[in-house]
Amino acid sequence: MSLSVNLRLLAEQGLQLKGELPVVELDLGVADDLVRTEKPLKYDLSVELLHDAVLATGSLALPLDCECGRCLKKFKTQIQLTGWAAHLPLEGEDKVSMDNDCVDLTPFVREDILLNFPQHPLCNAECAGLKKKNKASETETLEATKSAIWSELDKLKLK
Ligand SMILES: [Zn+2]
Repeated sequence: MSLSVNLRLLAEQGLQLKGELPVVELDLGVADDLVRTEKPLKYDLSVELLHDAVLATGSLALPLDCECGRCLKKFKTQIQLTGWAAHLPLEGEDKVSMDNDCVDLTPFVREDILLNFPQHPLCNAECAGLKKKNKASETETLEATKSAIWSELDKLKLK
C-alpha cells in the first residue's frame, strides 16, 4: 500500500488515507546503529484537491528503536508529526511528478521524517550516562583484571 493519490478520484471528493506504510517503502536510507526503524509508519491524512495543488494534512508517526548515545540504554521512541502538511503544486516549475494521474506522497513524507530523524538519540535529555558509566566500567575493568591476575597466581601456586 503506497501513499499515492489518484487525482481523478480526488477531484470528486477529498480522501482520507489512514494506514501503515512499511518502512522499506519509506526507504529512508539511514544507516544508524543507534536508531533502528523496523516498524511501519502510521499515517492518518486528509487529502484534498485545491485549485492547482494537492494538499495533504494530518499526522505521521514512525516508531523507533533507539540506543542512547550516552549510556547505550535501549529505548523506544517515535517521530511524531501531528500537524503535518504537504502542499504539492500541480502546475508550474515545482509541480509534482505524476504517474497515471497518481501523485505519490511518499517522497514528501520521507523528507519530513528525515528532517525530524534523531541525530543523537538520548534516553533522556539529562542523561549523563556515559561519564558515570565510563568511570564505573574503568574501575570494574581494573578490578576484573586484578582478580583475574590473582586467580592466575592462585592457580600457579596450586601447581
Ligand atoms: Zn542515556
